[in-house]
Amino acid sequence: MSDRGKVSAIVGANWGDEGKGKITDIKAQDADIVVRFQGGSNAGHTILNKFGKFALHQLPSGVFYEDVVNIIGNGCALNLEYLEREIAKVMQGAPELKFQLMIDSRVPLVLPHHILLDELEEARRGDKAFGSTKAGIAPFYSEKYIKEGIQLNEIFHEEHLKARLKYLYEKANLIIQNVYNAPPVDYMEVFERITKYKDFAEKHMIDATSFLRKSWLDGKNILLEGQLGALRDPGLGIYPYVTSSHTLAGFASVGAGLPPYAITEILAVTKAYSSCVGAGPFVTELFGELAEELRRLGGDAGEYGATTGRPRRVGYFDAVATRFGAQVQGATHLGLTNLDVLAYMDEIPVCVAYEVNGEQITDFPVSPLLNIAKPVYTTLPGFKTDIRGIRHFKDLPQNAQNYVRFIEEQVGLPVAVLSNGPKREEIVEL
Ligand code: GDP
Repeated sequence: MSDRGKVSAIVGANWGDEGKGKITDIKAQDADIVVRFQGGSNAGHTILNKFGKFALHQLPSGVFYEDVVNIIGNGCALNLEYLEREIAKVMQGAPELKFQLMIDSRVPLVLPHHILLDELEEARRGDKAFGSTKAGIAPFYSEKYIKEGIQLNEIFHEEHLKARLKYLYEKANLIIQNVYNAPPVDYMEVFERITKYKDFAEKHMIDATSFLRKSWLDGKNILLEGQLGALRDPGLGIYPYVTSSHTLAGFASVGAGLPPYAITEILAVTKAYSSCVGAGPFVTELFGELAEELRRLGGDAGEYGATTGRPRRVGYFDAVATRFGAQVQGATHLGLTNLDVLAYMDEIPVCVAYEVNGEQITDFPVSPLLNIAKPVYTTLPGFKTDIRGIRHFKDLPQNAQNYVRFIEEQVGLPVAVLSNGPKREEIVEL
């Protein structure tokens, strides 16, 4: 047992965009392998390092370390065309970089009709649209679970692939033409588009389950990296305003391909305030000037989506939501980011309970109740100091230390990584 490697999951405690990319980039220094276990190009991780600023979508956040093996796991949604573009963009910013990328042979492919259906369906929903990034993710995962998706390994079996695509598009075209009144997709065109990537796949494709098992037994350190956050999980999140793949560390075992008991550390990442992209209930949301100020000062360049550029919804720290998020992640520790952003506030409200129908609750409720929940705040004094250069917890202003300790108490977990700036070195030793 003791020779086995350490497996840690880095996941979101909230709605996504918590700063997981930065935390993974830091933790990857000591890792041998970084695995993305779910999601696709519908969200992004922002990373600032010696090469510049990057928004990673499908690439795991270990790509900037040449001796780290990066794996796109079977739980992901692989869009080969987008991945090719993403790699070209990274290479443009870091031309010298030689990264290692492996892709699980069992990962299913995002196909052109997934993106088309995503666009058509959002347009049909009109003012009830989910705010999809239109990367095809919901139609992709639906198809995976009705067992009609195409896995990467299938592009090497051409007759088999043609037959499966023909069948797939017979049905997809019925929906495209009859439900949405749009022109049909030619399955042979799709066949050409995906088999074009055979050389690329030959270079990168592996049996990730067997590779990870051997690596784990050989004592390698493995990081499992999630996308979005606990509250976007389709099972335990703010349904239906969720994503289509499981964002929880419990799924990391499936989506990467490792035994559940291999994962011994789960770091749930949260910001020192709240931010949220997309629709759905958000109890501590701020509006007007208060929101504008936080949005302008938040993140590395204001709170705007890494993938979409959309302004993010922002609010005060929500301890009810974060405690729930950390619990359903099975978190052993917290990663707290963006503490520096709060330096402008005279007082910092923290939501410690919700008021629902005149009653105070501290357990995160289901969506219809979230829609009517009002935040109950405890207000802490602000620290009013630029803390970006500080490297040791004891050197932080007392009120900043108190704020961190208050969050630990509320969430019921210790902060293991504390980030006070978007850059790789902007970390406070605890
Ligand atoms: P992810 O998807 O969880 O990786 O998060 P994103 O990259 O989408 O969003 C996090 C934002 O916070 C990005 O703009 C990061 O550059 C930024 N960020 C991360 N940590 C810190 C921090 O400690 N301070 C500040 N000011 N920005 C941070």
